[in-house]
Amino acid sequence: MDCLFCKIVAGEIPARKLYEDDQVVAFHDVGPQAPVHFLVIPKKHIRTLKDLEEGDKALAGHMVYTAQQLAREQGCEEGFRLVMNCEALAGQSVFHIHLHVLGQRPMHWPPG
Ligand code: AMP
Repeated sequence: MDCLFCKIVAGEIPARKLYEDDQVVAFHDVGPQAPVHFLVIPKKHIRTLKDLEEGDKALAGHMVYTAQQLAREQGCEEGFRLVMNCEALAGQSVFHIHLHVLGQRPMHWPPG
C-alpha cells in the first residue's frame, strides 16, 4: 500500500485523530495553516474528487457533515472553511481525497 492516508486509516502511520467511524477518519493536519486545521478523509481509497462514483455520494455527504460537526466542536462556530484540492494544479499533494477544515483565523477570498 503506497498511499499515506491509507496507512493512517490502517494505523500504520500515527495521526492525531479527532474522530473515526466506519466510513471516515478525521485528524489534525501535520502542517497547520490555521489555529484549527484538520482533515476528514474517507476510509475508502479515492484518488481525487474526479474519481468519486455515483455510489460515493452518501460518503461525500458524510464527510461534509462530519467536518461541520467537528468544526463546531473545535470552537469554530463563528466560521470555518472547507477545501478540497483536486489534482496537483489545484494544490493536491496527497492522492487520497481529504477535506481540509480550517478555522479560528480570518479567511480571505479569493484564495491565492
Ligand atoms: P493537499 O495539498 O490538499 O493534498 O493536502 C495534503 C495535506 O496533508 C497537507 O496540508 C499536509 O500538511 C497534510 N499531511 C501530509 N502528511 C500528513 C500526515 N502524516 N499527517 C497529517 N497531515 C498530513
